[in-house]
Amino acid sequence: MNKPKYFPTELEILGYTWKVLYIEGTSLNKDDPDEEVDGYMDITRGEISINLLAGNRDRIREILFHEILEAIHCLLDMELEHRDLSNLSVGLHQVFRDNDFLKGL
Ligand SMILES: [Zn+2]
Repeated sequence: MNKPKYFPTELEILGYTWKVLYIEGTSLNKDDPDEEVDGYMDITRGEISINLLAGNRDRIREILFHEILEAIHCLLDMELEHRDLSNLSVGLHQVFRDNDFLKGL
């Protein structure tokens, strides 16, 4: 399975270029492959990894939003609870999706 059409392989986030990797499976944390996650943000490698098997296109896109927020959160040294970050991601994704901000994505 390849990257879904229109999904980015690189993202500029706060002055850094991040790689976005699309992987089938939940072993996304290279430092702890036993950890099962559908999305992972690796600040030291500058990588965001997404499990393509996590769900439909909508779900994959929402995971990408979530990991982008994780990167911003980390780079700006914010202190949101993970639950708040997750809710923000779901909310932003819905507004962007349902108002055609995302075009082909
Ligand atoms: Zn998270």
